[in-house]
Amino acid sequence: MPILRDRRSAPSRPVIDRNTVQAAIVICYRNGEFLPRASATVSVEDRGFIFGDGVYEVWRVINGRLFETDRHLARLENGLRELRIDAPDILRAEVLNEIAERVLSESGLSEGEAALYLEVTRGAAPRAHAFPAAGTAPTVFVMANRITPADALRERGAAAIAMPDIRWLRCDIKTIQLLPNVLAKQAAVERGATEAILIRDGVVTEGSHANVLGVFGGVLRTHPLNNLILPGITRGLVLELARSLGIMVEERAFSEQELFEADELFIAGTTTDVMPIVRVNDRVIGAGVPGEVTKRLSREYRALMDESVAAERDVVTRSG
Ligand code: PLP
Repeated sequence: MPILRDRRSAPSRPVIDRNTVQAAIVICYRNGEFLPRASATVSVEDRGFIFGDGVYEVWRVINGRLFETDRHLARLENGLRELRIDAPDILRAEVLNEIAERVLSESGLSEGEAALYLEVTRGAAPRAHAFPAAGTAPTVFVMANRITPADALRERGAAAIAMPDIRWLRCDIKTIQLLPNVLAKQAAVERGATEAILIRDGVVTEGSHANVLGVFGGVLRTHPLNNLILPGITRGLVLELARSLGIMVEERAFSEQELFEADELFIAGTTTDVMPIVRVNDRVIGAGVPGEVTKRLSREYRALMDESVAAERDVVTRSG
């Protein structure tokens, strides 16, 4: 297994000069090596750096276990196929899990809440727009970060702003080219809001880093899956949950005007979970507090995550 070739020869923990490291040591993975994040580098000719030529994934991690490993891997595989980047070994769940376990444990993230980030670029090559020579190895990078779910905000509901969706027409691919998303989120932050809701041709597409769902007369509505939105894993799970709870679901976009007329509104994403939105552009949505459908889906989604990672833990404990 070439991607793990250093495992047997490398010391189980990297040698780190503690005098030069101020913060907690955080271990990442880069092209077959485990190393302190502070000293991990990529080539200045990496096509991710030069062109934004790559894709990424983010997994929710609870007590060291990845939530929905396979759905995220499938989306990543699809993105790589669309961009014609060779799929590296880490696309295999067992390889990913082995790498993730070591990155998480050596970063002190085996307990509690974390997020695991995986990026794959087309690799390093002299700068030219066309693809590099066949055989150019993709760059593979993994890191993990502690996250703190915003539960207090979830209780009272968050604010959002509405903004034009200026992104390209392949928003279904999770590319590392996130400049419109970065600018939208920054605009939200500068207005004291949690998310920017993006509007294309008068229609709500999604948020800068989460999908947007609304409740209209008891029906849960969200933009259908197509090239204009990311097929969010959380979105998919929430829709499945809603259907299983007997809540009517319509994958039909709603307009900017309807956005303000929603009974309830929320965003959904891997590190966001289900987050009620109670104000948009300083206008109150619904009753101005998290609605009953949203709160129910939020509770059920949290339970689903906890049960899913606990079940995985049981399997590992029993077999290990
Ligand atoms: N939409 C965008 C633009 C995103 O960046 C994200 C997550 O990063 C999502 C939606 C939510 O996707 P997921 O639930 O898979 O995290």
